[in-house]
Amino acid sequence: MTHDTKSPIRKETVRLNSLSSSAHSTPRKRLFISLILGSSILLVLFLSALWIIPFIGLKNIHSYAPLALALAFIFLIVLVLWSSLGLVLNILLGRTLPLTSRFRGLTIKLFLPLMTLLGRILGIPKEAIRLSFIKVNNELVASERGHFLPHEILLLLPHCLQNSRCSRRLTYDITHCKRCGECPIDQLLTLAERFGIRIAIATGGTIARRIVVQNKPKLIIAVACERDLSSGIQDTYPIPVYGVLNQRPFGPCLDTLVDIQQIESAVHRFLYQPSGA
Ligand code: SF4
Repeated sequence: MTHDTKSPIRKETVRLNSLSSSAHSTPRKRLFISLILGSSILLVLFLSALWIIPFIGLKNIHSYAPLALALAFIFLIVLVLWSSLGLVLNILLGRTLPLTSRFRGLTIKLFLPLMTLLGRILGIPKEAIRLSFIKVNNELVASERGHFLPHEILLLLPHCLQNSRCSRRLTYDITHCKRCGECPIDQLLTLAERFGIRIAIATGGTIARRIVVQNKPKLIIAVACERDLSSGIQDTYPIPVYGVLNQRPFGPCLDTLVDIQQIESAVHRFLYQPSGA
């Protein structure tokens, strides 16, 4: 893809593109893995305590009651350990253990709330946890190895990518953009047309949800800040969301930018390509 480096906005995009997000990927993964393991240990300790406490009095109910309860808790503990181990291996190796194909759901539904709680107790900033969650979510979405037809992929953009001085109303129809090249919307429309994927712009969570309901995508490539991405990934589960962080050289929610090449590689990764095409 070619970039017009004469335009100031594109110069900035090219400069930011070079600041690859992968520079921070390893610490983010490490944080995520540490929090998963910490959450699992807390869960196991909690379950062990639940087991030990009633154990003392259960014999009075039935002679087999303590054993039955012990087996139930052992099963739950093994399940938590197996799931967290499988999730960590999935993150590190990109491979899944048997019976662990629903890791993304487990991460979103169980581990993220636990990790956020643990992170708050340990004083880890929310932003760092969200970034690590998005990074790991993307790897899990990619490891599912799904491929989609162009119309099944939705590129969902935040309103703040549009130049703040532009008077075009794009929320209901992004094609109202007159393609002046003053903001990334122009390049993103070109990219969507080239691959035939759907593209839409949302001003908030409610409109984003409505766009998803109307378009019924099988995969969403979403651009947003870490807060909106992590809540969007949770809101739209089980639809897989591949998150791309926007860049905010002018502060939050104003004339934001995005790495076009990162979006293009995501489209390449998920787009169904018939053999020989
Ligand atoms: S590219 Fe489109 S959205 Fe961006 S400033 Fe120009 S007309 Fe407005």
